[in-house]
Amino acid sequence: MTKNRRIQLNERDMPAQWYNIQADMPNPLLPLLHPGTKQPIQASDLEPLFPMALIAQEVSTERYIDIPDEVLDLYRLYRPTPMHRAYNLEKVLDTPAKIYYKNESVSPPGSHKPNTAIPQAYYNHKEGVKKMTTETGAGQWGSALSFATNFFGIECKVFMVKVSYGQKPYRKSMMNLWNGSVIPSPSMETNAGRAFLAEDPDCPGSLGVAISEAIEVAAMNEDTKYSLGSVLNHVLLHQTIIGLEAVKQLEMAGDFPDLVIGPFGGGSNFGGISFPFLRYNFTEGKKTRCIAVESATCPKLTKGKFEYDFGDTAGMTPLIPMYTLGHKFIPPAIHAGGLRYHGAGAIVSQLLKDNLIEARSVEQIESFEAAVTFARAEGMIPAPETSHAIAQVIKEANIAKQEGVAKTILFNFSGHGLLDMGAYDAYFSKTM
Ligand SMILES: *Cc1c(COP(=O)(O)O)cnc(C)c1O
Repeated sequence: MTKNRRIQLNERDMPAQWYNIQADMPNPLLPLLHPGTKQPIQASDLEPLFPMALIAQEVSTERYIDIPDEVLDLYRLYRPTPMHRAYNLEKVLDTPAKIYYKNESVSPPGSHKPNTAIPQAYYNHKEGVKKMTTETGAGQWGSALSFATNFFGIECKVFMVKVSYGQKPYRKSMMNLWNGSVIPSPSMETNAGRAFLAEDPDCPGSLGVAISEAIEVAAMNEDTKYSLGSVLNHVLLHQTIIGLEAVKQLEMAGDFPDLVIGPFGGGSNFGGISFPFLRYNFTEGKKTRCIAVESATCPKLTKGKFEYDFGDTAGMTPLIPMYTLGHKFIPPAIHAGGLRYHGAGAIVSQLLKDNLIEARSVEQIESFEAAVTFARAEGMIPAPETSHAIAQVIKEANIAKQEGVAKTILFNFSGHGLLDMGAYDAYFSKTM
């Protein structure tokens, strides 16, 4: 019998709604608090930063939200994405586990991030916004937002964490190609940036610092809005397209996952792949284990505290109820720039606090070992962020082998590593 390595959905079978887990969470979210008054924020407090449609999605408890036709049309540039069965990896690991991965690396910028960049650019455009600012770590988010804003004629200004700006120069080229402009952060363009540089002229930057800079520019300019690539509820909502497709694809394969695994930066790709499966836990008594895998150098889920904290380093965002290492935490300059964030989104934090999901951390070196095993078995070269999930998949496949159980494992192949070859060079030359 020929093996089906790839499970493909037709374009017409692409889901036309996103899934909002806020409708099914056993405990509702705590409110965001105003940084000054410490009272729950009002929609109007967020208006200088975000369009109304996204603010409404942020607090919505409607179970399914329609995806606008214009967004579906742009999704079709790369969606539905394929699901793969990792037969070769199973063989290399000699495991009875069945390993599937959802391949989000096929988007033009190379990761899952356009799934939210496109709707964010669309809603901003619809409300007349002409300029957007954002931050980026490894450059995946900045390139996704540049890609998306370009379709709507919106100017995009990206503050890129300085250490990543040096590590991944072609990400900048990619953003420029799609009409984005890129500024290494901390920069001299903002009060926040100047303050960080005064304190430490060699500051490598962090996502928290870059967010402060991007928010400042949006808050000071009437015609400019801000966009965040992870953490917020509306971002996770848009990413559920991943899991909704995956449910259909596993159904086609006659399977259902025992484990769903995703790398974890702020929660967007993990939430995107896992929430549509968690729904079956909440409503149909299924027992799928969902595991978020973070970097051991930035362990907010496994070592952080659940408390109100700022989303950025300068303390300009609302206070978010989340697992955090503290908003002043500046993580070491690991290659997985997308995992260098001090906190976790509110939804994922509440789910973890309620023991409805699990978290693990992985060391950088272990993530690269896993990436090499994967690339030699399956061919594809993972992004350093994605490799953290792969390391956990390998551990779980080994556990399945010890237990002699044919578990079904699904993970999110959140992005490719074709612009991360410098990191692979460092790994092979043992200078990591
Ligand atoms: C940004 C990114 C991540 C981590 O961010 P989340 O918001 O937690 O998904 C993981 N993998 C890739 C490829 C990324 O670009």
